[in-house]
Amino acid sequence: MSDCIFCKIVRGEIPASKIYEDDDILAFHDIRPIAPVHFLVIPKRHIASVADLGADDAEVMGKLMVAVGKLAREQGCSDGFRTIINTGRVGLQEVYHLHVHVLGGPELLPSMLKR
Ligand code: AMP
Ligand code: ZN
Repeated sequence: MSDCIFCKIVRGEIPASKIYEDDDILAFHDIRPIAPVHFLVIPKRHIASVADLGADDAEVMGKLMVAVGKLAREQGCSDGFRTIINTGRVGLQEVYHLHVHVLGGPELLPSMLKR
């Protein structure tokens, strides 16, 4: 996807504060953090959202979720963290390249959604 901002980060065309990279996934700090720890983990292959996942994506998504826990611990989230995946219009997804937000820090996060 030539005009996808996260594909551009994968290709090194725009900078990002990278945390981890391998053949399949990339993790980098969110440019507008909303918690002391806030990074994103993405598949390198362009997948627009969770709603677009197919059977062929199962392996890379499993690998991605295993990396989330490891990276969260390495970033200091030893006492827990929150993962968020916004999907589509209703989920208020802004960037249509699948990404897992990982949020944490020393203090408790705000409650997830107001009841
Ligand atoms: P979402 O609403 O889940 O699609 O969130 C997209 C996230 O991407 C937001 O938290 C943005 O701050 C973040 N973001 C957008 N552009 C960049 C960028 N160039 N580098 C890092 N994070 C970005
Ligand atoms: Zn993309």
